[in-house]
Amino acid sequence: LLLTKGSGAAREDAADFIIDQVDPESIRDYLRHLTSRPHPGGTKAEEENAHWVAETWRALGLDEVHLVPYDVLLSYPKNDTPNLVRVLNAEGEAVWTSHGWQKPLYAPEESSPEVLPNFNAYSAPGNITGEVVYAYFGREKDFKELEDLGVAVEGKVVLARYGEVFRANIAWAAERRGAAGVILYTDPQQYAPMGEDAVYPNTVYMPGSGVQAGTVLLTDGDPLTPFYPAVESAYRLPEENSSAPRIPVQPVSYDDAREILRHMGGPEAPPAWRGGLNVTYRLGPGMAQAGWALNLEVHTHNARATTYDVVGVIRGSEEPDRYVILGNHRDAWVFGGVDPSSGTAALLEVTRVLTSLRNQTGWRPRRSVVACSWGSEEYGLVGSKEWTEQFGKQLVDRTVAYINVDLSIEGNYSLRTLSAPLLYDTVFEAAAKVPNPDVAEVAAGRPTVYDTWAERLPDEGRPGRPRVDIAGSGSDYRGFMHNLGVPVLDICYTYDPKVNVEPLYHTLYETFALVDELYDAGFGFQAALTKLWAIMAVDLADTQVLKFSLKEYSSFLADAQEELLQEYGDLISSRNISMAYFKKAVEGFSQAVDMFIDDLSHLDTSNVLAVRRVNDQLMMVERAFIDPRGLPGRPDYNHVVMAPSISDSYSGTAFSGLSDALDGIQDLDPAQQEQRWVTFAQHLAAVTHYISTAAKVLSDDL
Ligand code: GLU
Ligand code: CA
Ligand code: ZN
Ligand code: ZN
Repeated sequence: LLLTKGSGAAREDAADFIIDQVDPESIRDYLRHLTSRPHPGGTKAEEENAHWVAETWRALGLDEVHLVPYDVLLSYPKNDTPNLVRVLNAEGEAVWTSHGWQKPLYAPEESSPEVLPNFNAYSAPGNITGEVVYAYFGREKDFKELEDLGVAVEGKVVLARYGEVFRANIAWAAERRGAAGVILYTDPQQYAPMGEDAVYPNTVYMPGSGVQAGTVLLTDGDPLTPFYPAVESAYRLPEENSSAPRIPVQPVSYDDAREILRHMGGPEAPPAWRGGLNVTYRLGPGMAQAGWALNLEVHTHNARATTYDVVGVIRGSEEPDRYVILGNHRDAWVFGGVDPSSGTAALLEVTRVLTSLRNQTGWRPRRSVVACSWGSEEYGLVGSKEWTEQFGKQLVDRTVAYINVDLSIEGNYSLRTLSAPLLYDTVFEAAAKVPNPDVAEVAAGRPTVYDTWAERLPDEGRPGRPRVDIAGSGSDYRGFMHNLGVPVLDICYTYDPKVNVEPLYHTLYETFALVDELYDAGFGFQAALTKLWAIMAVDLADTQVLKFSLKEYSSFLADAQEELLQEYGDLISSRNISMAYFKKAVEGFSQAVDMFIDDLSHLDTSNVLAVRRVNDQLMMVERAFIDPRGLPGRPDYNHVVMAPSISDSYSGTAFSGLSDALDGIQDLDPAQQEQRWVTFAQHLAAVTHYISTAAKVLSDDL
């Protein structure tokens, strides 16, 4: 193996080394250790895992390894008084009571006393008795439809299905409308589509006793220290002023939801709202029998705890102060077989292979590779958000890119990516190097990961190319992208979108066995994902001139602008607001990109300062879109081009600040409409300014 520092040839050799050395058995061993006991954020087990990851990295010989603790507000249920739902008769006696825990079905560890009772993190505690209303997927539009059907949710307990939007958006939509509480459940229509007998442990589908845990906090990071790190010197909000929900929110299984639905009264739900349970879905409010009621008893409570990030560094040889950051969270609601320990195992394998590349060949990356193992992501991206708050200034200055793997495998259908446009070429090229782990696909003439990806998740607008989604929120890339303006990538192996959910997500049944026996026997898909991750890390860390896909950003901006104008163009011109400057800014960016690329071809690559100068300019492109004041009404989202959707944090949207101002504006009263137009006009000027700024950073003029 001939490896010369930072040259193109070295990167090819490194890719071959990675493809050869990533070892499915080693990933399997890491996963087995990580999933041996429940390890939710802020627990002893999470701390132990943090030390174990740090020890593993020290043993591998990473140049620097340290733990970063944060004292944050987390949330737990009570073991002696589990959260319960009851149906009460007219005498107030419980005729039915829900299950406090999920039922052990297969793997011995499912019976561990460390498994927590069913809960949603940051639910308010409470004991309420009242009427229940069925709200389908609990999306904004579902609540509007309920309103149109004449069913009020104020003062009621909302029963809603998981599976379409981030659960904190459901909880907030209900709370905002004055609901007294929320019950969430996984309907078998999505979660057990092969029938209630074809479930775990025979298949990957949801058994009747499965319950999806998860946070219902809509903001990100420690709820007591918004914008600033949760360190010793921090000012902490009084708990009652935090952003946590004010009402109880509790998840139940579909066996339990069936019992609630069976007792409900009121009109039948619209046909589309019926799920897969063999009951008549009714809207409520309340029960069929006079005087009967629903009782929701929740003991979930907030508690201060310490959570740990682990940071490990492979120091760069020539530009040690430039970082390629790889991240994955370590905390899991239960065993985390899929989420996130499959990703943690992949991260450990990446560091094992990169250190062995260094040890065997003397290679060092040109830039530093920083591996981060985040704590308490499940609570609201707490560990990564606090870290980006604490080290924001340095990171803005020094970070080339952030690559996230949350879970590495949630299906074996295709690669799935969320990506900033600047990193499209990075992931396309790397995916085309990784051999396809899918034997049938190879036989069908698709030898690489890229081939199956392009075939199965095609980009509708660009034939022959795979689809890449916008990074909204939902995992640890959030702070990097939406606060710091660092280009991010998130990758995993995913399911067929026609199936649409990872059935056992956040349940007791996300065990080692689920991955080892059902999702990825032989660990070939996880190995492929690991290779892709490592190859991209080396590519970004070693390439002399950063290979950011500037032209992709030009087309992204042009397409997003076009879409906005298609949707709202007429409305905007009816107000005599000119879009000319906005259009000119996007064109100007595209011209600046073309000129920059042209100049690059004359770059004297032996001139280290000249190289550093163009790389600095490239790093500024994403930063240029950061507005320190944030989006209108959303001060913790600073990126003016991309943001999570306001009604579903999981999905990303372009120019959200502009479309949110105009969305549904016709239904508002004149004074509110006026206010929205002021917001739109102000934000339009800001967006235009930052796009022009992005063009400027690519030029030498002031
Ligand atoms: N990934 C976690 C979840 O889906 C946290 C997401 C978030 O807080 O944005 O529940
Ligand atoms: Ca904070
Ligand atoms: Zn996760
Ligand atoms: Zn999760």
